[in-house]
Amino acid sequence: MTSLSYSRGPQDNALLAMTIGAAFDQSVARFAEREALVVRHQQVRLTWAQLAEQVEVCARALLAIGMQPGERLGIWAPNCAEWCITQFASAKVGVILVNINPAYRLSELEYALKHSGCRWLICADTFKTSDYHAMLGELLPELPACAVGALQSRVLPELRGVISLGRTPPVGMLGWSELLAKAEQVSAQRVQACSALLQFDEPINIQYTSGTTGFPKGATLSHYNILNNGFMVCESLGLSEDDRLVIPVPLYHCFGMVMGNLGCLTHGSTMIYPGDAFDPLATLQAVAEERATALYGVPTMFIAMLDHPRRSEFDLSSLRTGIMAGSTCPVEVMKRVINEMHMAEVQIAYGMTETSPVSTQTAADDDLQRRVSSVGRTQPHLESKVVDEHGRIVARGQIGELCTRGYSVMLGYWNNPEATAQAIDAGRWMHTGDLAVMDEAGYLSIVGRNKDMIIRGGENVYPREIEEFLFEHPAVADVQVVGIPDEHYGEAVVAWVKCHPQQVLDDAQLRAFCQGRIAHFKVPKHFMFVDAFPMTVTGKVQKFRIREISVEQLALAKG
Ligand code: AMP
Repeated sequence: MTSLSYSRGPQDNALLAMTIGAAFDQSVARFAEREALVVRHQQVRLTWAQLAEQVEVCARALLAIGMQPGERLGIWAPNCAEWCITQFASAKVGVILVNINPAYRLSELEYALKHSGCRWLICADTFKTSDYHAMLGELLPELPACAVGALQSRVLPELRGVISLGRTPPVGMLGWSELLAKAEQVSAQRVQACSALLQFDEPINIQYTSGTTGFPKGATLSHYNILNNGFMVCESLGLSEDDRLVIPVPLYHCFGMVMGNLGCLTHGSTMIYPGDAFDPLATLQAVAEERATALYGVPTMFIAMLDHPRRSEFDLSSLRTGIMAGSTCPVEVMKRVINEMHMAEVQIAYGMTETSPVSTQTAADDDLQRRVSSVGRTQPHLESKVVDEHGRIVARGQIGELCTRGYSVMLGYWNNPEATAQAIDAGRWMHTGDLAVMDEAGYLSIVGRNKDMIIRGGENVYPREIEEFLFEHPAVADVQVVGIPDEHYGEAVVAWVKCHPQQVLDDAQLRAFCQGRIAHFKVPKHFMFVDAFPMTVTGKVQKFRIREISVEQLALAKG
């Protein structure tokens, strides 16, 4: 009898039954004099004891401006020391942190703040092409005329004030140092009293997921959700207080604030931010100069580092491990990271914001083939199953939708019971929308998104398979495959190809490369050669944009 695509992670390593604040205090007591946080672009270097002092001051200040446990505090800033301090301080006093994507523009910001009912917002001044002060001036014209902390906004009636991380906060906003100065109005005992009442199952974080349709949804995560996920992810990496982790991924996403910050917190490891946003050179420099032992990134970040013309200048030999995650991790890129970046123990993690985020992970002792080509096995204390369109578990080896259950599944979407009920079924299984296959040994492979699957003339085509195949061409640096409408076949396969520097490819060469090596219906009808893909700030490729642009450009070419 063939076995079913269901698996359960090991249970031997106990879950942490405590709040983030309690875990923070424990780590500070254990690792006090060791380095906790290095923020290279701000020249910040703090031990756990020094970080604890700043977190304590910030926690008191949050109470001083009237924040109550359970109220929401928005943060709209790229990676910086204040982000980390705010994360731990808000957790200590039970204030729910609402992560706002630094790339959000006015309408998205307004939606997130209104929907979550934020009382205060912490914002940067500028980042890339975003002028946060100017945008907030537009959204909140009442700011300059209202006393600080007594905002009366027409569009955001629940918002009381804005804290600026900029050097010169505009009139009506509170500066970061002014905020911290308010700490003296509140005693340390009040923070302790507040922390003591918190429960680990209470919500502590809301993250708006971009969703391709409708409004963004606020995945609501508890202390238990994210503290344990950060802990288990870094247990798998074998992190300890001797490890130094470079975090170039954004903090507003789970990859940074959970797998990075909370993973380090629970292991006493050092958090190193190479810059306010990902930059391949700054990240390589951070690894070399900080003698980092671990590095995180989404596949496109690793590709950018591997292909950087100055890579050979940097000694990366201190690296041991790290994680590639966030989207399909191409086998060739994994092999290069192992061989060319000294990351012999690099692991792949898979998951989504709604599951805190990681559900499956490869292990350092998995055989090489599985370590580069699967997303590993089910994480400790979690369950995975792969189901068909009727919700029935499929046999191992069959494709279906991946579902996850366990401590990591979010509490729900903030204020959105309908969307929650669509995502989490009555058995508490989170339906991921990802298509996966489980092998006999329980290793999972992601073959695409439910909606990414291309149906060409009745044949199911999985973009992932064609991408992996095209990656084998030595001139191909990166590739994305999508389906677009086709009169004849319903859908046609389109491949966007990025070549390595100084390499050129044309349609005929790639077509010849595919000929006879993959089934004819999988050979892309169109190859498009590009320098970049449309991306989100998290480094996720926006396949829907690739689809839209392909349709437009092919229509233009046709005339
Ligand atoms: P987010 O909620 O932004 O973290 O996005 C979650 C989605 O990213 C998942 O549903 C997957 O489609 C994709 N994803 C994350 N990690 C991986 C991985 N290792 N391999 C393939 N897809 C991934």
